[in-house]
Order: sequence, then C-alpha cells, then structure tokens
Amino acid sequence: MSRRDLYLLGEPVLRQRSMEVSAVDDDLRQLIADLFETMDAAKGVGLAANQVGVGVRIAVVNAEGNRFAMVNPLIRSAEGRDRAEEGCLSIPDLYAEVTRPHRIVLDAQDAEGTPFSLEAEGLVARVIQHEIDHLDGILFVDHLSPLKRQLLLGRWKKEHRGESTIKSLGPAEEATR
Ligand SMILES: [Zn+2]
Repeated sequence: MSRRDLYLLGEPVLRQRSMEVSAVDDDLRQLIADLFETMDAAKGVGLAANQVGVGVRIAVVNAEGNRFAMVNPLIRSAEGRDRAEEGCLSIPDLYAEVTRPHRIVLDAQDAEGTPFSLEAEGLVARVIQHEIDHLDGILFVDHLSPLKRQLLLGRWKKEHRGESTIKSLGPAEEATR
C-alpha cells in the first residue's frame, strides 16, 4: 500500500464525471487500498478516487465505525433533511454548513465486485453523498448559495494563492510508533 497525493481545488479531474468501473481488477484493488491509506493519513472520513487523480467511480468511507469501499455507488432512495458542517480534503481549511437528505439507501459494489446495499443516516449518509458528488464532479461548496460560495472560495483562493494544487502527504510514519 502507499499513500497517494491529494488533488486540490483547481485540478480539472475534480470537476469531471468519473468513469464507471466495468470490472474490479488487481490495479483497482490496489487503488482502493491506497485510498484507505491516504484517507487515514489525511484523517478524513471519506475519499473519492478523483481526489487522488484517478477518474473512476470508486470511493472509500470511514465514519462512525462504518469502513467500506464503494464501486459504482448509486443512491437508490433518499429522505429527510439535515444541515451540518462539511469540509473536504480537496479544499483544506474550508468548512460550511450543507443541507442534504438525512437517510439514504446506497447500492454499490465492494472491492471484490460483489453488489451490496446499505441503509445509512446522519454522518454516514452525509459522507456517502459527499463522495458520490465527487464522482460526478460536484464539490460540497456547490450546495451553498452563490453568494456564500463566492465569498468562501474567494477567501480560500486568496489564502492558498501560489500553492501547489497537488499535495503530498509525506512518507508513512514508523510502523512501531
Ligand atoms: Zn470531499
């Protein structure tokens, strides 16, 4: 396993619709392992493949004890409404409240290509929706009002001017520590 570089706002792959996965092969299983390792290193609760520069419909989640990969994920149904703060590893240091459905049913495949369904609510449902948005080229700030989005992104771009839009997480820590 290895950590991959994080792709930040400004990288075109974050704005593209990622491609369906026709079969999960060894390369994609390696990608999934790397997504888990990169998410953990960045202390994230979810990570989509295009956030490490790979435009395929794969994401990983680690929230409230739910740790899983989802391949070709789809929201089958959604209900209720919740408002909560979100952030994104691709837009570091920017947080805002986003309204999303409270409860969802997810259809996806696992790392072996086996289909599964999952009912989720609260934070887990929110992370799943945030990651599927990524696969469609959507960022959480797109859910804000145009005015708020402009304000926050304007400030963010100013603060991060001149910085690389590809971020290395550095070498893994000593396994013994
Ligand atoms: Zn994100």
